[in-house]
Amino acid sequence: MKEFFGTLPDGQAATLYTISCGSLTASITDLGATLVRLMVPNCNGIPGDVVLGFDAPEGYLGSTTYMGATIGRNSNRVADAAFTLGGREYKLCANEGRNSLHSGPEGFHNRLWAVKQHLADRVTFRLLSPNGDQGFPGNAEIEVTYRLTQDVLNIRYEAVCDQDTVFNLTNHSYFNLAGHARTDAAMDQVLTIPGRFFNPDDAESIPTGELRTVAGSPMDFRSPKAIGRDISEDYDALNLQGGYDHNYEVFCQPAAILYSSESGREMAVYTDCPGVQFYAGNFLDDHGKEGVYYHKRSGICLETQYYPDAVHHPEWPQPITPAGEKYVSETTYRFR
Ligand code: BGC
Repeated sequence: MKEFFGTLPDGQAATLYTISCGSLTASITDLGATLVRLMVPNCNGIPGDVVLGFDAPEGYLGSTTYMGATIGRNSNRVADAAFTLGGREYKLCANEGRNSLHSGPEGFHNRLWAVKQHLADRVTFRLLSPNGDQGFPGNAEIEVTYRLTQDVLNIRYEAVCDQDTVFNLTNHSYFNLAGHARTDAAMDQVLTIPGRFFNPDDAESIPTGELRTVAGSPMDFRSPKAIGRDISEDYDALNLQGGYDHNYEVFCQPAAILYSSESGREMAVYTDCPGVQFYAGNFLDDHGKEGVYYHKRSGICLETQYYPDAVHHPEWPQPITPAGEKYVSETTYRFR
């Protein structure tokens, strides 16, 4: 199904594409290649929408939450909004103090993507990102495919560029497996992250370079734990970031498991990325879909990606794709 989603400020129309397979249904708009709605059955077989979002383009364009969007070319932060590649310095657009967050103010999240293919169970979006886009080198072609199979949502990113460049795409959905309107239940979701260490950040949310063990700290999710249990503990990393907002190593698969005892829904996240940013929605304050007010911590993100600011840490996996080579990355969300 394909329906009108709204008119953008420049007069273009945004469209909402709905795909389904088995018991899952997803609606994705070409504005930001954004996941707007994801219907998943609860333990009684009743479908419910498990992602936060907005009813129309205005909501997305007026928000700094990156709700459900495709983030690119680079997700997360780049310190001082600059990096060096091939001996040349590239200046990005700073949009969080002096740093770049999610590639700057005009990142992929609020572009109108073209639609390459729309079938009953999948939709592929395409975007051309010109040389110098938000400061990144090279002319790039990016594709994102959302595909459903029985109990799985798969998001596949493909990109190619005519110069060496940074590709580090992710999806910025906020999940609440109790249902997007059950805002007070989001912190009761039980999370498992097998990662043994996380990246502590400075006061500007830039990684300090330390890879710190989670052992013995409120950051430890190696055993299933309600997200709200330790989030207010007096711990430097939580105090500095105002709650969970940290990259964890992807130690094994699945990289994370989220569960709601209220709905009986479980989501396992599989990825080929080295890291997953766990963000507990600490800055949410938005009027979302169906008149629901999303207060602080009404949903949580599990953003699969390279480590934040990896371009300044050669000792970490590098989000660099050589000219002419294909960047491919997949994240799979399996529901039960
Ligand atoms: C970051 C948060 C930021 C949010 C923007 C997340 O990916 O980790 O610090 O506030 O995006 O909505």
